[in-house]
Amino acid sequence: MYMTKDYVNLDNARHDDQRNVMSTIVEDGVCPFDEEFLANYHKQPILRQGTFWTLTLNQWPYEYTRVHLLAIARQHVETIDELEAGAAEELFDHVKWAIQEYQIDFGGLAMRFGDVRHNGASVNHLHAHIIVPDKDKPADAKVKFKIS
Ligand SMILES: [Zn+2]
Repeated sequence: MYMTKDYVNLDNARHDDQRNVMSTIVEDGVCPFDEEFLANYHKQPILRQGTFWTLTLNQWPYEYTRVHLLAIARQHVETIDELEAGAAEELFDHVKWAIQEYQIDFGGLAMRFGDVRHNGASVNHLHAHIIVPDKDKPADAKVKFKIS
């Protein structure tokens, strides 16, 4: 079983209010992306839900993004090899939906996996990011997706 500290990594929090929510999660000792607990911490609308993924807005979008969505695995899995057959296809279906819904003509799809102490993620529950930089951002500003 997992230790409480393994569900989130406070070192990877990017905002004070995010760190506060994550501290509460540590106290509660639960995985914040598990469906029975998600609504306790995640206050963004659910956009879409399939068999394998829940598509929602990132509560703390990266700086210089126009769109930042999360596809959160519906089961508690931590690595890609734990996903069932069909999960990858459904993920791309959500991305295609988002491309239509948000009129996306460029962006990135990123997913960390494995040990949250090393992969740079804040939550130890598999999720993918759909990231669309803001065209109006400063020319020298970059959207940064950290791994490690
Ligand atoms: Zn979980």
